[in-house]
Amino acid sequence: MQAFFHPGYVAPLRPGHRFPMAKYEATRRALEAAGTALCWAEPEPADTAMLRAAHTPAWVEAVMAARVPAAAERRIGFPVSPAVARRAALSVGGTLAAARAALAAGAALNLAGGSHHAMPDCGAGYCVFNDLAVAAMVLVREGRRVLVLDLDVHQGDGTAVCLAGVAGAFTLSIHCERNFPVRKARSSLDVALPAGTGDAAYLAALEAALEASVEASRPDLVLVQAGVDPHVEDRLGHLSLTDQGLLARDRLVRGALMARGIPFAVTLGGGYDADVLRLGRRHARTLLALAGLPVPPRLAESPGSSSLPQRGVGPAPRPA
Ligand SMILES: [Zn+2]
Repeated sequence: MQAFFHPGYVAPLRPGHRFPMAKYEATRRALEAAGTALCWAEPEPADTAMLRAAHTPAWVEAVMAARVPAAAERRIGFPVSPAVARRAALSVGGTLAAARAALAAGAALNLAGGSHHAMPDCGAGYCVFNDLAVAAMVLVREGRRVLVLDLDVHQGDGTAVCLAGVAGAFTLSIHCERNFPVRKARSSLDVALPAGTGDAAYLAALEAALEASVEASRPDLVLVQAGVDPHVEDRLGHLSLTDQGLLARDRLVRGALMARGIPFAVTLGGGYDADVLRLGRRHARTLLALAGLPVPPRLAESPGSSSLPQRGVGPAPRPA
């Protein structure tokens, strides 16, 4: 399976910044340490014409010139330096490359992206360009039907706005209703769950929503925003999925799409933890589960520990 990564996915921020920039490298290292059979590739950065598929020319140019007004940077949550601008273009390139690889081979991974808060004319919530929307628009213009499945704990508001009314694009967001963004956009289908929702109720809601969305959209490809912030220990999420619940989520998605023969590309998405190595393992577990690869014990929340936290509701199979 192809996995896209680029050293430029990590751009320097000031020390102590709340955004866990180092998690991208930590995720790659966790996957490599797991000894899994991934075929690594480096994406090309998206070019200006491609970015305009979902963004206004003014926003694309402001970012690429690293001349974003201070108010717009505050809405993103970090300054747009030349390295951050390149990172944003690389993330989009990685998601589109993963989408094309998935169409050819069934599934592929991007170790960045899932920047679902970025709007057509501005960034927001740690998102500069919306890789999901750009990739979907490029493929829709080629005649494909695309479903964006957003599993992040936060609503995919930017993706919903970018793709609103686009024939051939369908957006499904399953998220916590009491969370950022305060003002929600309207996806093709939104599943807003109450804070504290645990494994069993979450999985039941996801299964039903995914089936309904696939039926409604008949996609040629699914772009999966595989955020791990629904995890009970995430510091920005308010859902209560256990390790086992997240694994079950990822296996449910893979199983449902594989059963229907629908290719899918996976992007990283949100995940917030003060321990960036633990966060990298959390993302790595999700990517492996979606890839249908074994999740080795060394990627457990606390390697070497056999007792994992189980604060969610419902059946909890042991992690592989
Ligand atoms: Zn999130």
